[in-house]
Amino acid sequence: MSENPSISWYDDFLGVAYRYFDIRMNVVLMFNESKPTRDLWYETMHWWNDHTIKIRFIETGDDYWFVMGADSRRPDTNKYFYKILEKSANYERFKKGHQGSAYMRFGIYSRKTVDEVKNDALCDCGHRKDDHDVDSHSCLYEVCDCTNFDTFQLNILKKKKVVTNIKFLSEDDVKDDALAWNCLNRNKYSKND
Ligand SMILES: [Zn+2]
Ligand SMILES: [Zn+2]
Repeated sequence: MSENPSISWYDDFLGVAYRYFDIRMNVVLMFNESKPTRDLWYETMHWWNDHTIKIRFIETGDDYWFVMGADSRRPDTNKYFYKILEKSANYERFKKGHQGSAYMRFGIYSRKTVDEVKNDALCDCGHRKDDHDVDSHSCLYEVCDCTNFDTFQLNILKKKKVVTNIKFLSEDDVKDDALAWNCLNRNKYSKND
């Protein structure tokens, strides 16, 4: 298979979240800042033809490559997305439960400090804010080694695309899939540095 050299690959995002929402599962690409993220949507996704959107998950041991691309009505500003991510419980849940389609959205990820959230907010350690020491902010559960309350919020943007072409692949399958092949060829196999 020959590589398509015109594809512009983009991996400048934080990761991918999987959420149940409006019946379908949602694949949420996470970013830091709102304005550039909305601009990116209008530059790229907005012009995608829904039925051409493909998502590939290429599993490589404990990690996987998230790869997404589509034909655009504005090919000059189009981008394809990829990111190497660690497998997670949410990823496995999505893999089992997606039933062949998903909504794809962007989301803004923000860390919250202890003063910015209510008492019932969950820390990354899984325990509530009021289970943490008021002064040191360390978790009061003896089994927990959390030393500082830390939590995040994901604000999922409303704009969405429907994706119905989703495949889970192993690295051996990559040569039979144009999108996966293009991504790994460019971003893995031909990287000499
Ligand atoms: Zn904690
Ligand atoms: Zn804890």
